[in-house]
Amino acid sequence: MSKVYNWQLGRDMRFTFPESHPQWQFAFVFNINRCIGCQTCTMACKSTWTFSEGQEQMWWNNVETKPFGGYPQHWDAKLLAMLEQRNPGGQTWDPQEGKGHEAPFGQFRGKTVFEAAEGQLGPDGPLEAIGYNPTEAEWNGPNIFEDHAKDTARGAGQAVLPEHKIWYFYLARLCNHCTYPACLASCPRQAIYKRPEDGIVLIDQSRCRGYQRCVDACPYKKAHYRENTGTSEKCIGCYPRIEGKDPELSPNGEPVETRCMTSCPGRIRLQGLVRIDEDGKWVHDPQNPLYFLIRERKVALPLYPQFGTEPNGFYIPPRWVPRPYLEQMFGPGVKEAIDQYTCPDRELLAVLQLFRVTQQILFRYEIVKGPKVGEAPVRMPDGSTKTQELYNDTVIGYNKFDREAIRVTVMEPVVEREPGTYANSI
Ligand code: SF4
Ligand code: SF4
Repeated sequence: MSKVYNWQLGRDMRFTFPESHPQWQFAFVFNINRCIGCQTCTMACKSTWTFSEGQEQMWWNNVETKPFGGYPQHWDAKLLAMLEQRNPGGQTWDPQEGKGHEAPFGQFRGKTVFEAAEGQLGPDGPLEAIGYNPTEAEWNGPNIFEDHAKDTARGAGQAVLPEHKIWYFYLARLCNHCTYPACLASCPRQAIYKRPEDGIVLIDQSRCRGYQRCVDACPYKKAHYRENTGTSEKCIGCYPRIEGKDPELSPNGEPVETRCMTSCPGRIRLQGLVRIDEDGKWVHDPQNPLYFLIRERKVALPLYPQFGTEPNGFYIPPRWVPRPYLEQMFGPGVKEAIDQYTCPDRELLAVLQLFRVTQQILFRYEIVKGPKVGEAPVRMPDGSTKTQELYNDTVIGYNKFDREAIRVTVMEPVVEREPGTYANSI
């Protein structure tokens, strides 16, 4: 066991291997406020990678309706219950302890999946991470409870911000290509590895013997067993696209986003690569859109950071959902994130325009200031009023080679066709 630093927990934690980090890390931000639950992402992934025999229950990308839906069923409720059982009443945060750039959410005082396994034996010796292997029934019905709402005020039927009494939201998920992957830590064959060039976590199919320890240990349940090959499989981060190897999409070797990201009609997704130094710290790079949203503004939060794997999937939390539920899911940064998103300042509003405007991975953005085009009062979650100022700024995104990949304005341009020129002109 080694000691590693987990910035999402604001402290050191125990992990199977010593610190060892990639140069770049695959990461993504999903804006839950915009997801329409269309499952286009799910099908884009399925039709690319998991359409073969033995992969029927394998959904590397899925979209579940919270709070009741889940794939496999109740995966998160089960994990939270297991951790609570190991550490009754102790799964808490101290949001102020050591708070700073390397501990933006204060300090987690509870036990991670690794720490909760301490002193326990598994089938292959000391247990690396607590977990469980979902039953066949739990892997059925990836869409179970879709669009089912929770009614926290029976019959009242209120739908008024800041929190709706009847609510649900769509949670799109894939492997988080974690910094400290529980799947990797638990594999007795050392068949799982994290790529040094982009942090993508892969299972070496030639080494895997199907012991399924990764399925047990991944707290997000994103490793899957395939019976007809006797091996486990997981999301591969569409690595040929990240490498810029698709001859049609990347004629000059530009890295492009994954299939699930680029297919999203809700425009909720932005994926990228962030630079990591040898200690595992994110290299200060506020002009990288992901760095800006995650580390600079903290408007996008990790999913269940308390599990301890340091996931690299981040979410802008939904505005209408009761805060205790969101804080359990995303940690103590929820209020600050929703406050910013409710009334974004000029720069944040510009960067939010970059979601799904190009397939190329954006490594840098620049903003060209435009005229003020309006202002409007905004009711904040605490009931106060702020003024939303609207500037028609232009945001420019640059690719890996620092070439312009996209240029987009805050105001969507309106183009009027000349009457009489086209058959459908008004
Ligand atoms: S989400 Fe699960 S499968 Fe993916 S890297 Fe993390 S622990 Fe491994
Ligand atoms: S494609 Fe986008 S909008 Fe549709 S379900 Fe997936 S994440 Fe949500």
